[in-house]
Amino acid sequence: LADRLQSTLSKIKGKGKVTEADVKTMMREVRLALLEADVNFKVVKDFIANVKERAVGQEVLKSLTPGQQVIKVVNEELTKLMGGEQSKIAVAKKPPTVVMMVGLQGAGKTTTTGKLANHLRKSYNRKPLLVAADIYRPAAIKQLETLGTQLDMPVFSLGDQVSPVEIAKQAIEKAKEEHHDYVLIDTAGRLHIDESLMGELQQVKDAVNPDEILLVVDAMTGQDAVNVAESFNEQLDITGVVLTKLDGDTRGGAALSVKAVTNTPVKFAGMGEKLDALEPFHPDRMASRILGMGDVLTLIEKAQTTVDEEKARELEKKMRTADITFDDFLDQLSQVRNMGPLDELLGMMPGANKMKGLKNVQVDEKQIGHIEAIVRSMTKAEKENPSILNASRRKRIAKGSGTSIQEVNRLIKQFDEMKKMMKQMSGMTAKGKKKGKLK
Ligand code: GDP
Ligand code: MG
Repeated sequence: LADRLQSTLSKIKGKGKVTEADVKTMMREVRLALLEADVNFKVVKDFIANVKERAVGQEVLKSLTPGQQVIKVVNEELTKLMGGEQSKIAVAKKPPTVVMMVGLQGAGKTTTTGKLANHLRKSYNRKPLLVAADIYRPAAIKQLETLGTQLDMPVFSLGDQVSPVEIAKQAIEKAKEEHHDYVLIDTAGRLHIDESLMGELQQVKDAVNPDEILLVVDAMTGQDAVNVAESFNEQLDITGVVLTKLDGDTRGGAALSVKAVTNTPVKFAGMGEKLDALEPFHPDRMASRILGMGDVLTLIEKAQTTVDEEKARELEKKMRTADITFDDFLDQLSQVRNMGPLDELLGMMPGANKMKGLKNVQVDEKQIGHIEAIVRSMTKAEKENPSILNASRRKRIAKGSGTSIQEVNRLIKQFDEMKKMMKQMSGMTAKGKKKGKLK
């Protein structure tokens, strides 16, 4: 999907102007790409209609070329399609939070139960109780117990002669006694959806009234995953989806359509067999990855067309020598703001998260007003030569801008960090450009 979309989008990227016909051609390609990726045809149809409407609609942003605008719309709509915001796991008002894991055989329920327990402990310091309620598959109980041992977490089981309903009920009693804040119930699956399975899951649901019913689906099953999700949702009213095996050679189709078809969000992604291979699912990141936005060239292209040409050239020179002033900084800040949220932008730079000191560079959008005030309180000499900013000057600036010395200090530090990063980035730009030409 990524390749296909990217090549389509890159065709249009070079253009200065995009006509309605261009959008049409492009959307035909996007449509094919999505269908090829096994996205549900109805979902594709709606998606294309949405994008078309928006792309040829009114929203002409000065800072973006029409081509970029289409990409932006496709990206936003893809994100929306996958649920928009990241959806977190439920927390019951009164513990324990009861989570029921459901899905077909082999989807990854038992493994995910272990991974989820691990995630809850690691990220939220929770104390989950694992419950073995799959009494049909001979090795199922043992499998969960093994995971429990690996995690050093208790597993509740009553063998395979007691009904899942009874197991689930007793497990919750036990969890209350021993102060577990999460109860993760691993249930049985079948190879295909059938009445007796659904009936039994329904009984467990009625008996324990879970706060969360997570449907585990194998992302590799493509279109089937969507059908499975639809039936489970009809019968059980699932509250979330875990897409497993996204580490494999899967087409992204399931991720795109599950939410659209069931109207339940994908909450986690399984990225491997190990117990730490579970990640919260981020629709925006997934969309960016699908569009190949994690690409320095894209970022640079975007930056270059957004910042107007002359300024860009000037800035590039300054960046190379890292000879920027606070005025440039302010300029930059407003240019960057035109491009979109800062963290999104930084997310596009591969390895950006790992870059040392980036945390200090990241600017909270809310603080931008303060930053502007601080810079405006500087004298011309100070803006051009920040090294003269001694303690008394900083104090004066803090007063003048209605901020605090700490804030002034922080900004000066950020400015220094940014200078350093610009030096690094200008190195990357030069390299990236050469590579791009060779392709
Ligand atoms: P269940 O029948 O739904 O309980 O499925 P299992 O938890 O037993 O998993 C079935 C198989 O899928 C096992 O071999 C797991 O190791 C594997 N599996 C589960 N999740 C993932 C994943 O995210 N990535 C990969 N590569 N394998 C997975
Ligand atoms: Mg299992």
